[in-house]
Amino acid sequence: MRPEEYAGPTTAELTARIHEMKREKRAIILGHNYQVGEVQGVSDFLGDSLRLAQLATETDARMVVFCGVRFMAESAKILSPGKTILLPSLGAGCPMADMISGAELKEFKAAHPGLPVVCYVNTSAEVKAGSDICCTSSNAVRIVEAIDGDEVLFVPDKNLAAYVSTKVDKRIVPWSGHCYVHDMFVVEDVELARGERPGVKVVVHPECPPEVTAEADYVCSTGGMMLLAAEHDELIVGTEIGLVDRMNREYPRKAFHPLSALAICRTMKMTSLPLVAWALENERHEVTIPEDVRAGAERALARMLELS
Ligand code: 13P
Ligand code: SF4
Repeated sequence: MRPEEYAGPTTAELTARIHEMKREKRAIILGHNYQVGEVQGVSDFLGDSLRLAQLATETDARMVVFCGVRFMAESAKILSPGKTILLPSLGAGCPMADMISGAELKEFKAAHPGLPVVCYVNTSAEVKAGSDICCTSSNAVRIVEAIDGDEVLFVPDKNLAAYVSTKVDKRIVPWSGHCYVHDMFVVEDVELARGERPGVKVVVHPECPPEVTAEADYVCSTGGMMLLAAEHDELIVGTEIGLVDRMNREYPRKAFHPLSALAICRTMKMTSLPLVAWALENERHEVTIPEDVRAGAERALARMLELS
């Protein structure tokens, strides 16, 4: 069956079919916090990049349908080469991850000989393989602190690098990548939101520009934001709106407001419920990584997990 043919059944029918196929195939669905509500609804686990990478290694499922973007599915394959990892949409990339290639990393290292490289997980397997250690938005400060020496290269997110440099006593040499979804937040968004909702705390993702993170009450990963949602009755949330939808769904008596309703990651939204059903039934698209690259990337990811 072609993906279009899965558009006919109702949400309830597709959901039932997905649950049945999961049982038959010993598969689980891991969903990132930015996924659309229907996909979050069929996910066995939801989480941020770090939690999903940990879950992919912990599960004894034979097959993982990764509802997120490519680098997340690749991380699962890197850490669990024996499992079948499926990425429903081939177009679901992360534009920030595409802002540095393996060749560009080599040049960056050559321009700064001897400096260790910390790479955000939002990177290709090749870039991970060329790095000393990975980090996510939830452990970046701890990872950079743990690196020997007082100077590190950090790729690819200049905003996360700037945020970490306010928390550690090291010089960080950043690559100049960014996330187009978070980089668009401006200080005026925070001022306007505070004006409309006096006293409500503001939480933003560390991929936001430094002026914005400096203005916020809290800065954390999407997983950290879910923990804050448990503690607060109301919050202004500066990240992709899928997470704000999750908060409002899980805490219907509370109020979580997006800092901007325009914060939408187009590639995160490419995974739909019909596509998940199609991917599971047809076992598509299987993530593969050349073994030499995978082994190099595994070293950098495993070092991160040890410190997390
Ligand atoms: P988290 O690890 O905080 O979920 O972030 C992933 C991401 O891609 C943010 O844009
Ligand atoms: Fe990449 Fe930004 Fe989308 Fe996260 S929100 S997947 S960093 S483009």
